[in-house]
Amino acid sequence: MTEKKEGLMEKIVSLCKRRGFVFPSSEIYGGFAAVYDFGPYGVELARNIREAWWNAMVRDHENIVGLDSAIFMHPKVWEASGHVGGFADPLAECRECHFRARVDHLLEEVGVFADEKMTEEEINQLMKENKDRIKCPKCGKRDFSEAKKFNLLVQSNLGNFTGDWGKEPTYLRGETCQGIYVNFKNVLDSTRVKVPFGIAQIGKAFRNEITARQFIFRKREFEQMEMQYFVHPESASAAYDEWREKRWQYYLDLGIKKENLKWHEHENLVFYAKAAWDIEYNFPFGFKELEGIHNRSDYDLTQHSKFSGADLSYRDPKTNEKYVPWIVETSVGLDRTFLAVMTEAYTEEEVADGDIRTVLKFPKKLAPIKAAVFPLLKNKPELVDKAKAIYDELKSSFMCEFDDNGNVGKRYRRQDEIGTPYCITVDFETLSDGAVTVRDRDTMLQERIKIEELKKYLEDNLGK
Ligand code: ATP
Repeated sequence: MTEKKEGLMEKIVSLCKRRGFVFPSSEIYGGFAAVYDFGPYGVELARNIREAWWNAMVRDHENIVGLDSAIFMHPKVWEASGHVGGFADPLAECRECHFRARVDHLLEEVGVFADEKMTEEEINQLMKENKDRIKCPKCGKRDFSEAKKFNLLVQSNLGNFTGDWGKEPTYLRGETCQGIYVNFKNVLDSTRVKVPFGIAQIGKAFRNEITARQFIFRKREFEQMEMQYFVHPESASAAYDEWREKRWQYYLDLGIKKENLKWHEHENLVFYAKAAWDIEYNFPFGFKELEGIHNRSDYDLTQHSKFSGADLSYRDPKTNEKYVPWIVETSVGLDRTFLAVMTEAYTEEEVADGDIRTVLKFPKKLAPIKAAVFPLLKNKPELVDKAKAIYDELKSSFMCEFDDNGNVGKRYRRQDEIGTPYCITVDFETLSDGAVTVRDRDTMLQERIKIEELKKYLEDNLGK
């Protein structure tokens, strides 16, 4: 671990709380494990991340359309998808401190990779073989219980009183893509898309995650940004390569440094998958999955055809060929992107007076607040009125904040900590020369800009 990385996670968690990015859920009741709320600045950052993803996927591709399917779906969907039968993580408990850990993670720590399809017996065999090396991450003892598999789907009692679905439980969706598969025909019949085309969706997903650590990296209620690309079977491999390239470039465009990204190829593919690579990010706790890019063959549409009885094949209007499209999937968590962007932006640097300033160097398009407007002094009505007027003028074009708390130095510090690219100060000279001081977050340089040129200045400097 590098100097910078040590303690970085704690610093990010603390800043997220202190500055209103992320709060633990139900904190006044002692919190609620692995559930978090976005605060006033977090919600803005999350909106900007969603927008960047939507623009890169839907806006930039004439053959990709959006969807917002419901969280609840027919229970059969989760049988067809394989989640009811197989969406399970193996779990073991430390006999010393009762800490529960995912066995695949414990094994990974000692360089042993468990296959997702392994039975409990097979996993326990691996545990036995590596018993002397596997250590409790919490207390350090080497004494774990037998592994048991736990299904990750979150059950609900929705609609139980109607008896519509017999006694089958209903679930909160475990992934958003199933909503895309079941709407494949609807989108095809109601829009002008033709294969190859994609359907993109952003929405909540729920999983009974066993390990509730690592802040918003692994939440029980989280948000996914997924795109399913439907292609002719023979074009799947080329489409896959193309999407791998595009998704890598997307992170560079999001301001993530190349050295903090890494490809990881899945060693044990699920039986239907033809290829699976993850883009990993160098989180404060090391390189971990940020996005998965998968060639899923015709598995999903075939399964849903089988379980629903609907014909989900496609007839090519030109060649008349009929086939079940293959799917290339790109799937990323909003929360993991949020944490990656935070990690990337978090900077501590020495300023002229020897003090350390903390600054979030977000790419400007992601910054929650684009400009903060201050009157130099809060008890001078002529300055306050002018600053308010400027704020009112700018707020319809940019996410702005008016701030008259403390002195200007303190306001700069606060805005640095939330990553605001520009601070605009109205001072006594403004009243005579009609100009304001604009201070740049990264260089800390200040320049005088005429009030009537402010909007253009911000437009030019904030970029697209
Ligand atoms: P992991 O192996 O880390 O549990 P996964 O392989 O189960 O992840 P997928 O099912 O492929 O993840 O989900 C796609 C994406 O959704 C992941 O790359 C990740 O960004 C996000 N994601 C998955 N589970 C969570 C979670 N519990 N909290 C936040 N984001 C998640």
